[in-house]
Amino acid sequence: KNIVVAIDGYSSCGKSTLAKALAKKLHYIYVDSGAMYRAVALYFLRNNVDTQNHEQIEEALKNIHLNFHSRDYETHITLNEEEVSEEIRQMPVSEKVSEVSALKEVRREMVKQQQRMGKSKNIVMDGRDIGTAVFPDASLKIFMTADPAVRAKRRYDEIHAKNPDITLEEIFENIAHRDYQDTTRAESPLVRAQDAIILDNTDLTPEQQLQFALDRVES
Ligand code: C5P
Repeated sequence: KNIVVAIDGYSSCGKSTLAKALAKKLHYIYVDSGAMYRAVALYFLRNNVDTQNHEQIEEALKNIHLNFHSRDYETHITLNEEEVSEEIRQMPVSEKVSEVSALKEVRREMVKQQQRMGKSKNIVMDGRDIGTAVFPDASLKIFMTADPAVRAKRRYDEIHAKNPDITLEEIFENIAHRDYQDTTRAESPLVRAQDAIILDNTDLTPEQQLQFALDRVES
């Protein structure tokens, strides 16, 4: 049977850094589930989809076609054939995504696509509900946390060069806001799966985190 590693946790906890490193090391496929919700949010923004209107949501979902291109272990995602990997990291999408990802129609469709990707291949998938809703039988589940101030600083360092106008404060607020929305939504809220191993990486280097995960995959 194929192996699925599920990495969940709060926003900007380093989930994707760990997931990518692990996938690379093990030669598994890396799937960034957050990129899918971000691409859907981008479509909603561009097309002014009313998130209160079920017909509009269903119609939008029919018109959204997402694809991952895994040239390397970075996230390359297309929305209706257009490369949107950069645009989905920008602030307008970050501010919209939690509202869109809370919609049950959106979650149902994304979870279906995610489960399909994990059917036959060994994968590492990161997100919020991978160990709870998408792959409750995952071979290994890791739940990541880190000090909120450390998370905001890391994200700031990561995106500041490309977005010089952005402040540390705005990033901190956005992370806090997304965590609040993600943990309090009705539809598969962010919660640790009972059998997930907690990894608090506040004081850990990426290498230490990778080792932590590798020790558990192999045991
Ligand atoms: O992982 P990332 O921070 O890019 O995810 C963006 C947003 O997508 C999250 O804040 C959350 O609202 C949503 N998300 C989700 N379920 C997932 C992955 C992401 O609801 N599995």
